[in-house]
Amino acid sequence: MKLTVLGKYGPFSVNGGSTSGYLLESNGDYAVMDLGSGTLTKLLKRIDINELNFVYLSHLHFDHIADVGILSYAVSFLKKDKKLKVYYHDDGSDVSKVLKNIAVFELVNVKENQIYNEGNLVFSFYKMTHPVDSFGIKISDGGKTLAYTGDTTYNENILNLINGVDFLLADGAFLEKDYAENKLHMSIKQVNDISLKYQLKTLVTHISFNYKDSDVYKELKKNKLIKVAKENKTYKL
Ligand SMILES: [Zn+2]
Repeated sequence: MKLTVLGKYGPFSVNGGSTSGYLLESNGDYAVMDLGSGTLTKLLKRIDINELNFVYLSHLHFDHIADVGILSYAVSFLKKDKKLKVYYHDDGSDVSKVLKNIAVFELVNVKENQIYNEGNLVFSFYKMTHPVDSFGIKISDGGKTLAYTGDTTYNENILNLINGVDFLLADGAFLEKDYAENKLHMSIKQVNDISLKYQLKTLVTHISFNYKDSDVYKELKKNKLIKVAKENKTYKL
């Protein structure tokens, strides 16, 4: 299983980077997890859209879905069957209504406690804590298993999400100096603590637009299992 970071910033980028978007690849199966601003062009540079099994949207904030509208144009022009499966959660918002009106998307309204599969990929969803409905995903190819938190604050369901996984991709948006309990994301330290406690290989992502990687690494003291997500880099799990 391979994971490519297409975008790692939130809620926008000031340095030419992109907001959250990730490509997962395993034996010819391809899944996209979130599709933030500037990620679609990177995706299409890497794969033929006909190879893409599905897209999963962790939640409907713009920094995770900004390129979904233009994805629909790419599907119309380039995809042979003119349809693409999109896993999301219908949160009743206007954005959700817009998605429902995009004819080339075959939407799947995800539920917890249900197992889904596409190709050789088997996956399930875990409710996270964020101002809008947000779901983490646990996804396996039968060999390796990855968990991605989407956007979330720390919550007990994260333990169910990471149970039995080999690799964690986690929202750690804030340095300690900027973190408070009313923030909408985990801190980098909270992600580091999870990685250390459960001895999990981890990528911390959704980094605030104004941070340098070197600032983030200062808070990942002595943990060799954790790295800061790097755009355009592919990680072998
Ligand atoms: Zn969000």
